[in-house]
Amino acid sequence: MKINMPENANRIIHTLQNAGYEAYIVGGCVRDAVLNKEPDDWDITTSAKPMEVKALFDRTIDTGLAHGTVTVMFGKEGYEVTTYRVDGKYEDHRRPNSVTFTSSLIEDMKRRDFTINAMAYNDEEGIVDHFHGAEDLDKHIIRCVGEPKERFDEDALRILRALRFSAQLDFDIDERTREAIKNQAEFLKDISTERIQVELTKLLMSDHPERLITAYELGVTKVILPEFDAMMETPQVNKHHSYNVGEHTVKVIKEVPKDKALRWAALLHDVAKPATHTNDGEWDHFYGHNEKGVEMAEDVLHRLKFDNATIDKVKRLVFWHDYGMGELPKISSFRKALNKMGSDLFCDFTHIKRADILAQSDYHRQDKLNKLEALKGYYQEILDKKQCLTIKDLAVTGKDLIDMGMKPGPQMGELLNMLLDKVLNEPELNEREKLLDMVREHIS
Ligand code: ATP
Ligand code: MG
Repeated sequence: MKINMPENANRIIHTLQNAGYEAYIVGGCVRDAVLNKEPDDWDITTSAKPMEVKALFDRTIDTGLAHGTVTVMFGKEGYEVTTYRVDGKYEDHRRPNSVTFTSSLIEDMKRRDFTINAMAYNDEEGIVDHFHGAEDLDKHIIRCVGEPKERFDEDALRILRALRFSAQLDFDIDERTREAIKNQAEFLKDISTERIQVELTKLLMSDHPERLITAYELGVTKVILPEFDAMMETPQVNKHHSYNVGEHTVKVIKEVPKDKALRWAALLHDVAKPATHTNDGEWDHFYGHNEKGVEMAEDVLHRLKFDNATIDKVKRLVFWHDYGMGELPKISSFRKALNKMGSDLFCDFTHIKRADILAQSDYHRQDKLNKLEALKGYYQEILDKKQCLTIKDLAVTGKDLIDMGMKPGPQMGELLNMLLDKVLNEPELNEREKLLDMVREHIS
């Protein structure tokens, strides 16, 4: 089999070979190329030591010399070139700090996580595949290189990586690898939250986020996201639902676009349902789950060390996800909601809302979808007519009020809010003279 790699990757390999070293593309790019997917990046592995690599190329960056990685630059394009290595001693189920270089490709392959990630390739030798990765790609299997128990003992993040690859590729996890995950999931508590965040986000942003349920079944979410276990264990006996909270949640995740904040908001939109669950003898209820959900979502995202922008957006989406599903609100009340929500959130709100509806039972489904369309219609009308949504859009300013003799302070703020409230009800009032009349009336 021939892999069409970028010209510059081939150039690096040939330069290394001509200098007497071995060199291959390796890991994720070989896996993706065999699957006919365009790899994100092309990593190279070589028998040359980092200093020897640096000596052969004009422009290099010392990306991680201690771990053997040099980035070779061509224009803006960079390729990571890493020396064959074996990992040092592992402690506390974490990646080792020290590595030793080796001259043997197979030794380097042995330290890699899964058979599908342990293949190398160059044009001269074709695919080098000591651990039958190509066969596992064919069979759609994620399997550890070597003894799963030892591999997870060395680096427990691999547990989460197995689930992430299974979600990205829609592959099953080999039986012995699954067993080891089940037995060793608790080692994930020793792994840094940053690394966990990265893998969990990749899992959520994949084509098959429903593999999160496998993570639950294998005892993985219990260690890193116990909120999801609670969701899986909370029934929803209610006309609107046909799944438990966790199963419903996974369907919502799958229905929203692959955006980080949206997928996390989908995961967390009902996070407080277990905590707010009541049963009236017949039906399950979850009063106040969106408000409580905002707090819980914040806790989860803080714990996983998310950035503030993502936390803020997810919280707003969790808060608003249930908006608009009783009686269709009047457009005036929708304007007020939009003022509170922030019109920048509306588009993402519609994504969550649509997904939430589709992941419920089919009870009144068309009706709910129609309501969502009506809200979108309102939104479009408000945009088209450039209607006022915030104090900034009012036809009068604080300065106008000061010119009329008002003193700056809380009273002025109250007055502007009063004007805004009137204008949100009746957009036609947003004209300077009309508003100034109202102000005069108010202060006289
Ligand atoms: P992606 O397409 O998401 O980048 P990838 O397979 O390239 O997937 P990386 O995290 O970029 O994943 O790692 C590159 C390669 O390094 C992997 O293919 C694998 O061979 C090896 N690797 C990465 N992380 C580990 C780990 N924790 N344990 C063992 N090998 C690993
Ligand atoms: Mg990669």
